[in-house]
Amino acid sequence: MTFSAKTKSTKHIPQRSCTSCRVKSDKQDLVRIVRSPEGQAVIDIAGKLPGRGTYICPDNDCIDRAEKSGSLSHALGITVQPEFWTELRNYVKSHDVNTDLKVRSVLGLARKSGTLLVGTDNIDSAKRKVLVMTASDCSEGVKRFASSRENITLNMNTEELSEVIGARGGVQIVGLPQSSGFAKKIMSLNIERGSAFE
Ligand SMILES: [Zn+2]
Repeated sequence: MTFSAKTKSTKHIPQRSCTSCRVKSDKQDLVRIVRSPEGQAVIDIAGKLPGRGTYICPDNDCIDRAEKSGSLSHALGITVQPEFWTELRNYVKSHDVNTDLKVRSVLGLARKSGTLLVGTDNIDSAKRKVLVMTASDCSEGVKRFASSRENITLNMNTEELSEVIGARGGVQIVGLPQSSGFAKKIMSLNIERGSAFE
């Protein structure tokens, strides 16, 4: 018996539908919720709990809708206990921590590869469209500079941003060419964007 045919197809990422909005996503990007043996809704953090389960987007709109419509209760075949909704919202909030880590890793890699534009001068002289990202405590001037471009306010201050990109300090703004894979990765993370995006 050989497994060669099987190993070739292991790149397939399983898809699941959100119980609230019904949109299909990669299984790993959804929160799995199972019905415990005691008939309670439980967040399946490691994705390994047995039992009747369903999936939901880590998104407050989807959670609100699932609570109002009863879709989660229906999917699990129980009435979800009221305190579970708070637990789920808190869990999703902590999911943002993962987003922060991803942003940090992308910025670090972009800096190493020489793709990251550091400071307003470098962003200004770039010939391509740039996604700009500002530190949470950047100056009014930098804020104004960013607001005329597609921009994201990072969940890190000047000191943290400088550290992430290995700069000496005082970095308030960085940019990535929008056509770069790094910018696309950042934009796929669902971070709230500045008004220039609209
Ligand atoms: Zn959803």
